[in-house]
Amino acid sequence: MASYLASIYGTEQDKVNCSFYYKIGACRHGDRCSRKHTKPPFSQTILVSNVYQNPRHADPNCSMSDEELQKDFDSFFEDFFCELAKFGQLLEMHVCDNVGDHLIGNVYARYDMETEAQAAVDALNDRWYAGRPLFAELSPVTDFREACCRQNETQECNRGGFCNFMHLRYASPALVRELHHELSVELASRRREEERGSRRSGGGGGGWKDEVGGGGGGDWRSAPRAADADYDRRSASPARR
Ligand SMILES: [Zn+2]
Ligand SMILES: [Zn+2]
Repeated sequence: MASYLASIYGTEQDKVNCSFYYKIGACRHGDRCSRKHTKPPFSQTILVSNVYQNPRHADPNCSMSDEELQKDFDSFFEDFFCELAKFGQLLEMHVCDNVGDHLIGNVYARYDMETEAQAAVDALNDRWYAGRPLFAELSPVTDFREACCRQNETQECNRGGFCNFMHLRYASPALVRELHHELSVELASRRREEERGSRRSGGGGGGWKDEVGGGGGGDWRSAPRAADADYDRRSASPARR
């Protein structure tokens, strides 16, 4: 019996645990779901909810071309990737382009180590991005192929942005390659420094920008959550490139 329950855990046959939460880390019923959303105590994956703001979703009359939209997204992707990479070996980062409330703008990141994921969650919950507070949590998602909508990959999903599986937006492949390359160089240098027993003092090294506190990039700052007055201030697209 126990092994049967284990074998159906988080599947559609599981009447107790929500398969959407288990596979995708978000379910449209949220806290009102009739099935359980069991938050993992440890995970390599984190979810930062509702971060990427697609200008076309925000404004139906948006006049950006596809190319401009991609540039805007690449800039967001780079900014977020670089920040998340500060917490450890970031293996993959994905951004949802769905429009349903529970998936819109979600950023998922998977680290090599559970401790890295926990450190990211702890730090990000005290941070703001583009004028809005960040909400980060450990996520049960382990396999992004399972979480993604297969029909969307072949342009055949008829639920569009309201689909309850992930519809990802992709950064330019050259950028993704470059970011992963920079990260591996950075990690190698961090390891060398650790071996030398010297503590990395932050900033410098490996082509990293110092994004905290303004300067280059997408409006990162640490601020108390209470500063709600700023909540609606949408950043203009961080046209850096
Ligand atoms: Zn649910
Ligand atoms: Zn879909």
